[in-house]
Formats: sequence, structure tokens, C-alpha cells
Amino acid sequence: MDGMDMASMGGMDMGSQSLFVSTNQAIARGYWYGIAGITGLLTIIRLVSIAQTRHRLKRQERDPHCVPSRPRSFFSQAYATATATIRELSYAQPVYFTGRISKYFSPLPVGKWLVLAAYWTAILIFLWSNTILKPKDAMYAYKWEKVGFRAAWVTIAQIPFIYLLSMKFSPLTFLTGTSYERINWLHRWTARTVFLTAIVHWSFFLHEWWLADFVALEIKMMPMVRYGFGAFGTITWMILSGFGFFRAVSYEIFVAQHIAAAGVLLWLLFCHVPAYARWNVWLSVAFIAFDWSMRIVWNTLRNTHLLGGSKMRAPGYSARLEALPGDMVRLTISGTDFSWKAGQHLYLTIPRLRPLELHPFTLANASEASKEGGSDLTMLVKARSGFSKSLHKAALKSQDTGRTYRALLSGPWGVPPDLRSYETVVFIGCSSGASFVVPLLQELASKRTCVRRITLHWIIRHGEHLGWYEDTLTSIVESARACGVSVQITVHVTQVLGAGSSVVTDDMELKEAASHPVMEVESRSDQSSSSASMSSAEDEKTPLSRAHLPRTSSLTVANSSRPTVEAMIRPAVEGALGETAVVVCGGLSITAQARTFVAALSDERAVHKGTGAQGIFLFTETYGW
Ligand SMILES: Cc1cc2nc3c(=O)[nH]c(=O)nc-3n(C[C@H](O)[C@H](O)[C@H](O)COP(=O)(O)OP(=O)(O)OC[C@H]3O[C@@H](n4cnc5c(N)ncnc54)[C@H](O)[C@@H]3O)c2cc1C
Repeated sequence: MDGMDMASMGGMDMGSQSLFVSTNQAIARGYWYGIAGITGLLTIIRLVSIAQTRHRLKRQERDPHCVPSRPRSFFSQAYATATATIRELSYAQPVYFTGRISKYFSPLPVGKWLVLAAYWTAILIFLWSNTILKPKDAMYAYKWEKVGFRAAWVTIAQIPFIYLLSMKFSPLTFLTGTSYERINWLHRWTARTVFLTAIVHWSFFLHEWWLADFVALEIKMMPMVRYGFGAFGTITWMILSGFGFFRAVSYEIFVAQHIAAAGVLLWLLFCHVPAYARWNVWLSVAFIAFDWSMRIVWNTLRNTHLLGGSKMRAPGYSARLEALPGDMVRLTISGTDFSWKAGQHLYLTIPRLRPLELHPFTLANASEASKEGGSDLTMLVKARSGFSKSLHKAALKSQDTGRTYRALLSGPWGVPPDLRSYETVVFIGCSSGASFVVPLLQELASKRTCVRRITLHWIIRHGEHLGWYEDTLTSIVESARACGVSVQITVHVTQVLGAGSSVVTDDMELKEAASHPVMEVESRSDQSSSSASMSSAEDEKTPLSRAHLPRTSSLTVANSSRPTVEAMIRPAVEGALGETAVVVCGGLSITAQARTFVAALSDERAVHKGTGAQGIFLFTETYGW
């Protein structure tokens, strides 16, 4: 019986099942070899990228006049061409919706569709290879069961992958460097795929029972069938309740019922599948147990300060709240006992305000690891509903009293992009999206890296919102000169407040009338020894200098309508001598437009295809909006 568990089979046709088991188990193993193989490939790509960054930084240190991101060898040129082609294929997101409900139906970017297409192709091959029996086959009588059993294995093999994709402490993140929140979409789509393969599984069995007029008896005699339908019902519920709209209605209820349903699903599957397939359930349990144990240990250490090495402190952190214009709150924790990377986020709980809620917010300033007494940590929180509104009310109340709140933190989480090896960097932040891009800028403009030119476009509604970051931006512009980098910051104010508070519609007119540099700082004179200004198509061998840089770093405030992504990205890319990184943080509309534009621009310039045009890397963040 091939090690089969009679009890768990519940009387199903043992002969047919044992006949199919070895092939089906091989298919399930093949699925996991595939996942391991792709993870291995992504790990290698990550290692190459880390090595490339180190190599570029070393070259820059050895020869400050070179542009290390321009490929020199045949291998690096071929790698750059392959990278540019993949970026052009995958970045675009031509269709997106912004309506209250329709936004949940926005199609994915092309790259994610390509990943899904590859995944579905593999699943279809697993499902249908050698499963259609012909009348002359000896096993023809089992034609329905053959497909039913194959679909069962294809379904159960995917279950641990869904749980793996839900982990925060994930081996996938550790190996591939992709953070948990950026693979969440795959978690949802794998679950949707399981929903479909599960339909194939039960519908083929049901059809067979129906032909034999056996449906009621089968369900009555075989408890495993009832557990199976229970599991399918639970998956259906999880998929429907996980739909973006329902998640938005009440996130906490969504999370609570989703975790409960995930537990129930594993129990139902444990009862449904035969013993030799239960390793899939145990593997899922192992993933979850590991993740949650690590989270508990990590959060306990963070909030009890056991890792900080500082003297005894009360659990948690003392947070000050400050209400800012535009329903914004600045939360500040002084003297933290940990550091973070710019662009990472923390989960925040303030038990006195809302004890059971924890929300992710980006660390709005760069960590100052060397600061005595620990780095100050800030978060910029936009008051929307629920927790963030309570935070805003508390900030207004504590304005006069100076009251502080005990905060519990989880994190830091996230794997932000490493921008040190690019030649030009363009940051685009919409409103509170600045809390993602400004710390990255702060970090880049404070070190000597390969980056020579940085542009930041910050789009805000009202001039008074400038106060959220005015001091930080001013000090970035001041300090940029010491690192030999030119920083051009433009703050686009899209609504002019005043009598009647008018909305600006005529971009050009108002830009000319109202743009004014708030400050300008001269670049270092010792950097400009030669005068040749270069086009990005020029040959690598030509001696390069920093003379092509704009001579100043500046902070400009422009009253204008929202600038187009083309106006913000194209000039920087066309002026770049090496690879450009574009980082955008904002809603779906601006990130999708940036994705599509960067793909088109790379194609238009025939990047790394003989024209001399250099690569464009893109990273977008939407804060789940
Ligand atoms: C990685 C990341 C970084 C973020 N950084 C910032 C930031 O710096 N500043 C800022 O203003 N906003 C940020 N956000 C958005 C912020 O987390 C939500 O706006 C906030 O949680 C909404 O809470 P609420 O109580 O006001 O609204 P709710 O009504 O409770 O939630 C509204 C929506 O916010 C999202 N949300 C709520 N809780 C969570 C959670 N625990 N995990 C994931 N999503 C959740 C859900 O989509 C939900 O539908 C970030 C989000 C993410 C995912």
C-alpha cells in the first residue's frame, strides 16, 4: 500500500490512488525544486548586485573622476543590456484606476503579470501532463480520478508556499533581499491559483460520483470529503475577505479573521489529506511557528531594550506628538537604542490610544548611528481614519501640555534600495511620501558615494506643508557640498492659499511667476578642473570630470500644478553620465505613471543597446494606498 494510511483514506479507491501516488509526489517535489531554483537564481542576482555596488564604490574611491556605473567589460555590458531589457519589459503599468472602488481592480504592472504567467504555465504543466487518459489506456476507468488526484497534489503543494509568502521573518527575504510587503501580492495570487486548482480537484471527483449516482453516499461515508469541502469553503472565504476593499473597511477585523481562518484551514487540510501528504501541512505549520516565534522574540527584545546595551529603561519608548499643518502628525522618539536604514518602516502601537492596533509607518529621518545617547526617530503620519486620526487628536491635545505617550515598536522592517552606486538619482515624493524619499536623500547626501547629481521633486498641496521638512531640506542642501554632490530640490506647491484659495491650473504661467530658489549653495571649486561637458552617449575612455555638474545645490519652491513625470525624470536621465535611479513614493497614479514612463524612456533611448545611453533603475513605494 505504499505506506498509505488506511484510516485517513476513509475508504477511497485505494488501488487508483496508490497507482498515482509516486508520479504525483514527484510533481509536488518538482514544484518545490522549482521554487528553490528560482530563489537560488534571485539570490545569485542579489549577490551579483552587491558585488557590483562594492566594485563601483571601490573604483570611485580609487579614481574620483571616473563614472563607475558605465559598463567597461564585455561581461558587464552584456549584464547591463540584459538588465535594461528586463526593466523595459517589466516596469510598465499602463492601466490603473483611481476611483474609490475601482482602484481595487487596477491591473498589476507588466512584470508581475509575467511572473504570474510563468507560474500559471508551470502549474498547468504540472496539472495536465499525462493526466488525460485515452479509451485504449488500461487505466481508462480512472480517468476522472487521475485528474482529481493530480489536482489534489498540485493544490496541497502550493499551501506551504502561501504560508511562506506571508512570513515577515522569511528565508525568501533573507536570501533574495525582497521585503515581506513587496511579495504580498504573490501571496494573494498564489492563494487565488490554489482556489482554481482546488476546483479542478473536487469537480473531477464530484463528476465521477455523480456519474455513478454516488454523491450523497460518498459524502456520508467519507468524512475526509466533508473536511475537503470545509477547506475549500475556508479558502474561498479567505480570498473574498482578503479583497482590497474589505481589507480597507476594517483592517484589524480582516487581520484577526484571516489569522483564525488560516489556522482552521490547516486543521481541515490535516483531516482531509492522507498521511503521506501531511508534510505539506506540517511545513506550513513550521513556517508560521518560526515566523511568529521570531517576531515575539524580536519585539520583546526591542521593547525591553535588552539589545540596546543601555542602562535599565522602562519598556517601550516615550513618544512626543506634534500636530502639523495638513492633518499631519510628527511623532518623535528621542535617543532610540537601535539604528535603521533610510526607507525602512516600523509598526507602531500606542496602547493608551488604541491598545490592539499596530500600524506601519516609515522612519522619516535617517539614523544617526554615531549620535551620543542614540538617534532621534521621527515618523510623519497622515491622519486618515481610525488610529491615525486618534494620533492627530492626541497631538492637538498634547500641544500645550507637552504630554508624552508610551509607544511599542516592532521593526525596523523593509529592504530599501541601495542607491550608492548610481551616478544620478531622482526622488519623487507626493505629500507624506516624502517620509520615504527624504531620509534616502539625507543618507546619500551625507556620504561620499558614486552619486554626483540628486534631484528631489516634492509635491505638496499647500506652502505651509513645506514646514514638515523645511529644516531637513535646508541642511541637506548645505551639507551636500562637503560630499561633492549636487542636490537640486524642487518643492511643487499645487494649490495656492490666499483669498479664496485657488487651485493652480496654468502650469507654465505660474511656474514662471512664482518659482523662486529659496537657497543656493555653490559647489566646491576644487572639483571642476576640466571644462568638457559630456553627453551620456560619450565614450567611457574620455576623461570625465565633475565640471558638467550644475554649480550649485539649491532648494526651489514652485507654485504650479502637479508636474508631469516626464518633466521630473527626463532631464535628469538625459543629463546623466552613468546609471540613473528613480525612486517614487506616492499613490497609485504617480507610481504607475512613473513605471510606464521609465520603461518607455529606456526603450526610446535604447539603453545599453549601442547608443551609449545608460541604465535607469526604478523603485516605487505606495504605502499600501
Ligand atoms: C510599509 C508602509 C509604510 C507606511 N508609511 C507611512 C508613513 O510614513 N506615513 C503615513 O502617513 N502612512 C504610512 N503608511 C500608511 C499607514 O500605515 C496607513 O495609512 C495607516 O495604517 C492607516 O491607519 P488608520 O487607522 O488611519 O486607518 P484604518 O482605517 O485603520 O486603515 C486604512 C487602511 O490602511 C491600511 N492599514 C491599516 N493598518 C495597517 C497595517 N497594520 N498594515 C498594513 N496596512 C494597514 C489598510 O490598507 C487599511 O485599509 C504606510 C503603510 C505601509 C504599508
